[in-house]
Amino acid sequence: MNTNLVGLERPQLMQVLAGLGVPERQRKMRAQQLWHWLYHRGAKSFDEMTNISRDLCAKLAALCTIERPEVVARQKSVDGTRKWLLRFAPDEHGQRHEAEMVFIPEEDRGTLCISSQVGCTLNCTFCNTGTQRWVRNLTAAEIIGQVLVAKDTLGDWPALIATSPNPPAAGRHITNIVFMGMGEPLYNTDNVFPACRILADGEGLSLSKRRITVSTAGVVPEIPRLGEETGAMLAISLHATTDEVRDRLVPLNRKYPLEELLAACRAYPGLSNAKRITFEYVMLKGVNDSEADARRLLKLLKGIPAKVNLIPFNPWPGTHYECSEWDDIERFAEIVNEGGLAAPIRTPRGRDIMAACGQLKSESERLRARRRRATSNDAGADVGTKVSSGAIISTSR
Ligand code: SAH
Repeated sequence: MNTNLVGLERPQLMQVLAGLGVPERQRKMRAQQLWHWLYHRGAKSFDEMTNISRDLCAKLAALCTIERPEVVARQKSVDGTRKWLLRFAPDEHGQRHEAEMVFIPEEDRGTLCISSQVGCTLNCTFCNTGTQRWVRNLTAAEIIGQVLVAKDTLGDWPALIATSPNPPAAGRHITNIVFMGMGEPLYNTDNVFPACRILADGEGLSLSKRRITVSTAGVVPEIPRLGEETGAMLAISLHATTDEVRDRLVPLNRKYPLEELLAACRAYPGLSNAKRITFEYVMLKGVNDSEADARRLLKLLKGIPAKVNLIPFNPWPGTHYECSEWDDIERFAEIVNEGGLAAPIRTPRGRDIMAACGQLKSESERLRARRRRATSNDAGADVGTKVSSGAIISTSR
C-alpha cells in the first residue's frame, strides 16, 4: 500500500526517503523540502514540487500519496461559521468513517474545531457523541488532514493570503485549533501528540502553541505528557464542582476524581497569567448551576491560572437534561467574575437544529439509514447527504 505522507514528522519522512533509495546525505534536505510543500504550501500532488528532481517526484508519486479526508458535505451559516462532514479512507476493515469539523471566524481570529476519534468511549451523560457507538482513533494523517481540508476551503495558505485582495486581519484565517470535536484526545495520544507538533512547527503549518488547545474530560495520567511533549494549551471539561455530581455527568471522574484532576492542572508545565487552563462548564438546569456551585468552583480553582467557559447546554433528542435559565447562567458568571476569574458565556446559535459538536455525523447517519430504507422499499426517494442547517456555538471573550 502506498504511504500517505500527511501526518508524518521529519524522522518518518526521512525513513520513507531511505526506502525510496535517497542517499543518506540528502535525506534531511529532501525531508525538509517535502515538509515545506506538504505543510507550508499545501501541495496536493508531487508534480507541484518544483525543487525536487523529476526522478524523485516520479518515485514519490508511484509509492506515496498526499491524502486528505473526502468532503461529503460543506455548509456555511449566515454568520460565517462553517461545517464540514468528512469521510476518511477505508480502515483495515474496509469501513469508511465520518467526522465533523467546524470553523468559527471572529473579528481577530478564526478557530478550527477538530476531532481526534470517531465516536467516544467516555459516555458523558449530557453529550450526544457519548450516545453513539465507539468506533476508532483517528490517525495523525486524519487529524492533520482535517486542517489541510479547512485550509484548502478557506484559501488559508501563505501564498494565497499574500495575493488575496481581502486578507484576514490576523494574516491567516485559522489562528486557533481546538481539539473539541468528537472523541477524547488524551485517549489517542499516539496520534494527537505528533499532530500537535506538526501544527506548531514554524516551518510548516506554524500555529502558535498558545493557540492549540487540547480539551480533555480528565485523563489525568496523560496531562503532564501533553504539556511536556507538545506545549499545547490545556482545557478541562469540568462541568461539576463535587465528585458526586461529576461522577454522574462525566463517568471518567470515578477513575480520576476532582482532587487528582486539579492537582494535575496545578502542575501543568508553563502556566502563567498569560497561559491559563480553560475550564469548560456546561450549564445544566438544576444539576450544576446553583450559586453554591459557582462559589465552590472558585474555591476549587484557587491558585490555578484559569479561565472558565460557560457553555449553555445544547439539548438533543432523548436527553433528560435541560439548559439552565438565562438568569441563572448570568448569575453564575457574575459570581465567578467577582471572584476574579474570567467566565465568558459562549453564546449558542441555532440551538434548535442539532448543531453542537458530534451531531452533524449522527444527522447524516440518520439520513443514510432513512435512504437505505427508502431504497429497499423501492421508493427511490433521494434524501442526499443533506445536513442540518444553522450554526454551532460561537465563542465570546
Ligand atoms: N473529550 C474531550 C473533547 C470533547 S470537547 C472533552 O471532554 O473535553 C467537547 C466539549 O463540548 C466538551 O467540553 C463537552 O463537555 C461539551 N459538550 C458535549 N455535549 C454538549 C452539549 N450537549 N451541550 C454543550 N456542550 C457539550
